[in-house]
Amino acid sequence: SSTPKHAILHGLNDAQRRAVTSDAATVAILAGPGSGKTHTLTARVVWLVDHVGFRPEDVVVATFTVKAAREMKERIGRALGNGRENKIVLGTFHSIARRYLAAYGRHIGLDQKFGIADSDDSRAIITRICKRFQLSVDAAAARAWISKQKAKGTEAASAAARKDAAKLPGQRDLETCYREYQRYLETSNLLDYDDLLVRCVELLRKFPSCVSNVQTVLIDEYQDTNGVQYELMKLFAQRHQRITIVGDPDQSIYGWRSAEIRNLWRLLQEFPSTDEVSLEENYRSSQSILHLSLLVIQQDKKRYQKALKPVHNRGSRPVLRKLKSAATEAEWIVSEIRRAIAMSGSMLTHNDIAILLRSASLSRHIESSLGKAGIAYRMVGGFKFYDRAEIKTLLDYLRVIHQPENNDALARIMNVPRRGIGEVTIKSLLEEAETSGLSLWAVLSKHCRGERTAKTKLTKHAEQRLSGGLLRPLTDIRRRVGEASGPNGTPFGLVQMIEHLLSVLSFEKHLLASHPDDHEQRWANVQEFISLAADFVRDLDRSGDDFLPEIEGLQQTKEAEVLPRFLANVSLASDAQTGDDGQENKPLVTISTIHAAKGLEWPVVFVPAVYNGSIPHVRAEDGDEERRLLYVAMTRAQCLLYLSWPVFGSNGNGERNELSPFVAPVSGSFLDKGPCFDRPVMGEVARILQRKLPPESTIFGGLPALFNPEDNLFPVDPEHSKQEASAGFNGEDGRSGVVVPRAKRPRLQG
Ligand code: ATP
Ligand code: MG
Repeated sequence: SSTPKHAILHGLNDAQRRAVTSDAATVAILAGPGSGKTHTLTARVVWLVDHVGFRPEDVVVATFTVKAAREMKERIGRALGNGRENKIVLGTFHSIARRYLAAYGRHIGLDQKFGIADSDDSRAIITRICKRFQLSVDAAAARAWISKQKAKGTEAASAAARKDAAKLPGQRDLETCYREYQRYLETSNLLDYDDLLVRCVELLRKFPSCVSNVQTVLIDEYQDTNGVQYELMKLFAQRHQRITIVGDPDQSIYGWRSAEIRNLWRLLQEFPSTDEVSLEENYRSSQSILHLSLLVIQQDKKRYQKALKPVHNRGSRPVLRKLKSAATEAEWIVSEIRRAIAMSGSMLTHNDIAILLRSASLSRHIESSLGKAGIAYRMVGGFKFYDRAEIKTLLDYLRVIHQPENNDALARIMNVPRRGIGEVTIKSLLEEAETSGLSLWAVLSKHCRGERTAKTKLTKHAEQRLSGGLLRPLTDIRRRVGEASGPNGTPFGLVQMIEHLLSVLSFEKHLLASHPDDHEQRWANVQEFISLAADFVRDLDRSGDDFLPEIEGLQQTKEAEVLPRFLANVSLASDAQTGDDGQENKPLVTISTIHAAKGLEWPVVFVPAVYNGSIPHVRAEDGDEERRLLYVAMTRAQCLLYLSWPVFGSNGNGERNELSPFVAPVSGSFLDKGPCFDRPVMGEVARILQRKLPPESTIFGGLPALFNPEDNLFPVDPEHSKQEASAGFNGEDGRSGVVVPRAKRPRLQG
């Protein structure tokens, strides 16, 4: 039952069709935001399966975020049918690597029960190592350095090691830290985010047959791949050298995470017969939003220029608003959200709105204003839900059930609920474990068996509670996993496990005792956690197994247990950059970092705090990358775009902020107050979103027309805008040259 050709290609423009159907082995789609790169990549996957005839399980697709992976899978599923999308190896690089390691890791000596250390875990481990070895390095800096070394990929890393003859004293500490950190991860059977990639490279190098079935690899957001991801891509494609990449150098914003734009030129050099396709029409944003975004990115004179023309009409001019403080800025955003929804006659909902921040720390005022206004919101990046203390505790319990040797997790739950064990004792037990080479679990077991150790003294009471309230129940749960041990032989699944755990820990009582003020909210969070777990189990059941196809002569471990897969899912979802906590489909305003918003779009976008020091960020090393970040933020907007900045800083020392230097030169092209929602504006919004314009009466529904309609400078005549677009669009401030001629690729570097 293959999809008719015309259905796959329906609605695509010529260049998109060419990219979808290209029979070149390597295809590179380099194009600006909103030009349909992801859309085209998705169609190409369907094409390759349905028309070229690749088996879905032989196709590997890497996306940048968890959310993008989910969306793409849904779209492919709709086209392919029969649940065939579930067989495609589709996900972020990290989740794909995890899947291979779970299946084949033991061939490179990996214990199959490995866990994932997320960024919080890594930070905690490194902080402890720095203290213990009295290293004269900052823990955060050390962590960044270690991650950089790993992300460079094995080739670059060994080259660097050879060059590293003369070492700085600080360098030596960094290396000690790296070594000890790695040793700790190994003994605790943990992999951090970077290790997932590094170990997968090792696996595919040593056992190329793991990927001997792979016909083709497709990668979205290619401009942000780092060295080790580049190696992985080539290893996946090693058999047939069939690679499709899509990307936009102007949206390269992960240099700080070792992404290398160089990988783009490197690919074109290594695969000289690559079919390059450029897409030049922007289907996402109104003309004025695109126009202003391009004015910002064109300040970068060194960039690789490409054409990008709007297909939509001019729409409403973006707003730039100066406010007194971060608090008034947040209030203004809330009032604009309300106004936009009211004036749209509910054509727009909370779901249509995103607030994109340069850094997560800016969210405080915005969260509080939204909260006061009763507007529900979600935080993208997972740093909210899974970060709650009660959820973290439950996750730690699950991690210890899965991996008793996870010392950090065990140390955190040892006295939660209270068991009369103090901080100092926990530290001393941890040290005892580390010096004796035993796991903390083993040390506790020794204590509870009554074996006195010289080092740490536990009270009889504490020993009893540890043994009866922690070690025994967890051992018991571990034994029951997978057994049909319910009353009627019902399996002891993930949800039952969590519920059992809550009851043996008297968790509700614990919340009441330790958080008398808000225990109800916390207990509600626990219920939400159970329902997330239930959803996860249901999705697994529905999508079938995500095992890799059988390869002859290579043994695969079937990861039958739900628990490790759930834990991995949570760890990958709590990556602030690429994760997503799965609380989808609710009509919520989105608060996200700009980084995590990459590839996504919303009808209405707010970008607060566009002042110097926030964007560009004070600590940013690469100003051009900061400009690209603003460009990414602005180009997420489809219909309405609001930039704003507080004049006075939030630290209350009376220091004045300055408008971001990326915005200042073009500030004249913005409106300085909320747009006028007259009928033409709402008409254009409806057209872009392909929704129905509500009847006239609801649009102005008795609200005074606050602003002069002239503010929007509004020719909606489509013919007129087309001419303007092809002529090069003279902006309102007389600037021109938005549409640049299709330019040449810059000279290959490096
Ligand atoms: P980004 O660089 O931000 O990731 P992109 O190039 O991947 O952007 P998409 O997200 O694929 O762009 O597409 C942007 C929007 O344009 C989407 O809503 C998509 O459905 C729509 N779109 C893409 N191609 C077409 C087309 N040929 N006709 C109509 N709409 C299109
Ligand atoms: Mg995209």
